[in-house]
Amino acid sequence: MNVRRIDDYTYMIDKENGMNVPGIVYSSEELFKKSVDEGSLKQVMNVAKLPGIIKASYAMPDIHLGYGFPIGGVAAFDAETGIISPGGVGYDINCGVALVSTGISFDEFMPKIKEVTDDLFIEIPSGLTSRKGLKVSSSDLNEILRSGLKWAYEHDLATRDDMDHTEDHGSIENSGENVSKAAQQRGMSQIGTLGAGNHFLEVQKVSQIFDYDLAGKFGIKMNEVTVMVHTGSRGLGHQVATDYIRMLREADYSVKTSDPELISAPVRSPIGEKYIDAMRSAANFAFVNRQIAIYRIRSVFEKHFGVTPRLIYSLAHNIAKEENHVVDGESMKVIVHRKGATRAFPAGKASSPFEDTGHPVLIPGSMGTASYVLVGLRDNLDKSFGTTCHGSGRVLSRNQAVKKYAGLVEKELQEKNVYARPATKQVLYEEAPESYKNVDEVVDAVYGASLAKPVVKMIPVSVVKG
Ligand code: 5GP
Ligand code: MN
Ligand code: MN
Repeated sequence: MNVRRIDDYTYMIDKENGMNVPGIVYSSEELFKKSVDEGSLKQVMNVAKLPGIIKASYAMPDIHLGYGFPIGGVAAFDAETGIISPGGVGYDINCGVALVSTGISFDEFMPKIKEVTDDLFIEIPSGLTSRKGLKVSSSDLNEILRSGLKWAYEHDLATRDDMDHTEDHGSIENSGENVSKAAQQRGMSQIGTLGAGNHFLEVQKVSQIFDYDLAGKFGIKMNEVTVMVHTGSRGLGHQVATDYIRMLREADYSVKTSDPELISAPVRSPIGEKYIDAMRSAANFAFVNRQIAIYRIRSVFEKHFGVTPRLIYSLAHNIAKEENHVVDGESMKVIVHRKGATRAFPAGKASSPFEDTGHPVLIPGSMGTASYVLVGLRDNLDKSFGTTCHGSGRVLSRNQAVKKYAGLVEKELQEKNVYARPATKQVLYEEAPESYKNVDEVVDAVYGASLAKPVVKMIPVSVVKG
């Protein structure tokens, strides 16, 4: 493997052995040296071997090992002649983040920290079970798959403003007919739930503003309390991924490369089209899942403070999208896989109501450090198909984290004045803040690479862990 540093924030993996394009990893020298392992660089190279890949196989500074594609990976394919790969989307289809501003200051919040966090823990169920998910009928579920937030709007569970502040307005067109009964069964009772492990709900304090004008336009104030939710398509999306990976293994016209996890199909093939359709259904399900969580957060804040939190943005960081991009001076339709990577369309490319600013980009860090709101920079259209990182990214596996930090995380959070409500002790250790890269360094790197710039920084106040 020949990896070269080509500027302060860019590494190139030269084309070799069947790679159709080079690999590009955006990272600072320090971050690269201490946190990028050979396994994930191999994955960047494997992705570069897929047919129809355009320009490069990209990775963001939060890169780490994933299923087939690295997490933090970005790859675009010709929408006619390229491929689609479930490994480039991930098992949690439309895993993503939503952020609300509450209008409550940190000082107003603190006296009620325990009651409010405990209520959030109850109202937005976490852990593997699905108690207290929203009850929906199977015809409702079908409508959710087909129309996403439009269904929530029609049932008074989302406002126009919520739709405006959700990626793709929370509704991606599809038939709703390619999701198995088993997948539907798993999702049925899980709407409005967090799920386990890495998923969380966090109350935060706005601790730093880098761009007052943009922060104001996004509706975020200094010292205000925000609430961030990280969840995706739960069992439904996982089952869709499982179903289609199995079907692709059995289909004779699927595209196989050296890595069986990179199984893919031509975009224009019956199974390729079906997977894309089913992935879009699962994405709509995830948009509704986050929306119901937001709805429940609102009712908790209405009860305790008499205020209704406003949605700043809800976005996907595991998804493949059909988009138009300029390649070699010409506009073309491509399928962009963002796997643990976030769309960050800048001013001029973002859709309404963010045409003039770019849309907010939500970057969780860890429950012991910080999180950010960024905005995409114009250069990213050329450098990463309008994409930036999705978090800080793991440096330790869950097992390693437990071995190293079991019994220590409670004390660390206490010292940092973060009140934690984990579903289990285990999850607290697996998610030890030290098991992630330093979010400040990751944000520095995406800024340095001209992909996105910081607007606001938030620090954790209390956290509910799946
Ligand atoms: P993923 O989608 O890859 O599981 O995780 C997204 C990112 O969320 C991780 O890379 C990590 O930086 C961040 N993260 C994980 N747990 C927490 C948490 O409890 N609070 C915050 N603010 N961020 C977290
Ligand atoms: Mn997820
Ligand atoms: Mn995620």
